[in-house]
Amino acid sequence: MRRTVGTRTVGILGGGIAGLTLAALLAGRGHAVTVYEQDRAGGKLRREQAGGLSFDTGPSLFTFPDVWRAVLARLHEPDPLDLRPLPGALGVHHTPHGPVPLPVPPSYALFPHWQRYVRAAEPLRAHLTTLLTTPPRLNDPAFLRASAALLRATGPHASAAAWLRARHLPPALEHALATHALNAGLSPADAPALYALIPALVGADVSRPAHGMGALLDALRGFGEARGLTIREGVGVRALSDTTLTLNGGEVRRHDLIVSAVDPARLARLRGQSVRPGPRTVSGVAVYAALPAPAPLPTTSVIPPDSFRDFRAALRAGALPHTTLTLVHADGPRLAVLLTAPPTGRPLSADHPWVRGQLRRAERTLNVPGLLASALDTVTLNPAHYARGGHPGGAIYGAALPAWRGGPLHPQPYRLTPDLWQVGTGVHPGGGLPAILGGALIVDRLLGEAGW
Ligand SMILES: Cc1cc2nc3c(=O)[nH]c(=O)nc-3n(C[C@H](O)[C@H](O)[C@H](O)COP(=O)(O)OP(=O)(O)OC[C@H]3O[C@@H](n4cnc5c(N)ncnc54)[C@H](O)[C@@H]3O)c2cc1C
Repeated sequence: MRRTVGTRTVGILGGGIAGLTLAALLAGRGHAVTVYEQDRAGGKLRREQAGGLSFDTGPSLFTFPDVWRAVLARLHEPDPLDLRPLPGALGVHHTPHGPVPLPVPPSYALFPHWQRYVRAAEPLRAHLTTLLTTPPRLNDPAFLRASAALLRATGPHASAAAWLRARHLPPALEHALATHALNAGLSPADAPALYALIPALVGADVSRPAHGMGALLDALRGFGEARGLTIREGVGVRALSDTTLTLNGGEVRRHDLIVSAVDPARLARLRGQSVRPGPRTVSGVAVYAALPAPAPLPTTSVIPPDSFRDFRAALRAGALPHTTLTLVHADGPRLAVLLTAPPTGRPLSADHPWVRGQLRRAERTLNVPGLLASALDTVTLNPAHYARGGHPGGAIYGAALPAWRGGPLHPQPYRLTPDLWQVGTGVHPGGGLPAILGGALIVDRLLGEAGW
């Protein structure tokens, strides 16, 4: 039975980017929407202070901006972000076989190989926004065309590693490209083949809002509040039964519709269900440092593990890999260093020997010894922090989905009951911003079709 569109109450669990995006979309259709956020709105994207500087944590690269433009179009809003291309795009990848900037510039010997790689991904480019924003349905011609393009581009290969091996690329380029499997939160042998194509599909179109990633949070908040959205920060949900929420502190709230924008394992616990532990995506240690002077570094540097095989074995065992994937973002006196870590929920601090060792490895590789020791102040977020608001082990993209569910072709469990739906990182494979913004658009459309 279709419901009558009109003012109905919607409760959204979690005020991360996914929750805020869907909240703005539903408030825009006249519903009375309340977001319950146990901490501060923004989730993994939050503002932290160190050494008198403000740092936007979490996402640092804004990719596939057409998905964001699709959100704006549905809200009938102009773009307030002022997206600026990031110098050096995906950055220099310091592989054991030599440095590789992505995209590879024409002056490099690797350029013809890069071009060959890009050609293999090219037919998919025009379909990517469709894959990210359309409910996967066999009766939708655009979805069918996009799926066919995806299957043609990825071929029979089961993983990103297998797809790359079949291209016979020089080892430095193959190693650099393989790091982008981590966009799925998985090592290359576990990530779907699509993730091997990410650098080709992103190309040089990597950007950041002129005033930092926090502008995305401000924009979504503003869109929601202009449509009457209520955001209750510091109000956690303790339990959920049908459409009744029990909040920390004991208050009980009933809504017509509930949308969860928290990790599915957290949601299960709120519903009193047991959760089977299974494979997880990676967690991380993020060090945000206020430096006395701008670092002599390019905007983005990527230091992959020396061996993806050892890296994978360690992560699978929940052990600390001998060498890990490290991303370094330099922005004037702000430095962000992101280490990939196993999703064990451990409180790895900046002076933990493994963290110190990986930070020294990064400084050595980038030829900036002692850079972090010179910092005026640092803030460190670790798997224990990510576990507080996200997946219980701090897995940044939640549980590792099996290969047949890990790409955009499989319908995700958006609708758990007629009155309980879900969006967010753990629901959409490869849960970076494009996937969660696209996922919010998909759920908004499906809810609209269901009469909400
Ligand atoms: C270090 C790092 C680097 C990243 N880099 C990039 C990047 O460069 N590009 C990119 O696109 N993506 C990147 N990502 C991924 C991106 O940040 C996330 O995919 C996105 O922010 C997740 O948003 P979300 O709303 O799904 O989840 P979250 O941000 O986890 O939001 C969930 C919210 O729910 C709240 N919550 C949980 N339980 C309850 C409860 N019981 N009651 C009430 N509230 C609750 C939490 O407090 C939290 O605010 C990065 C992530 C990290 C951590």
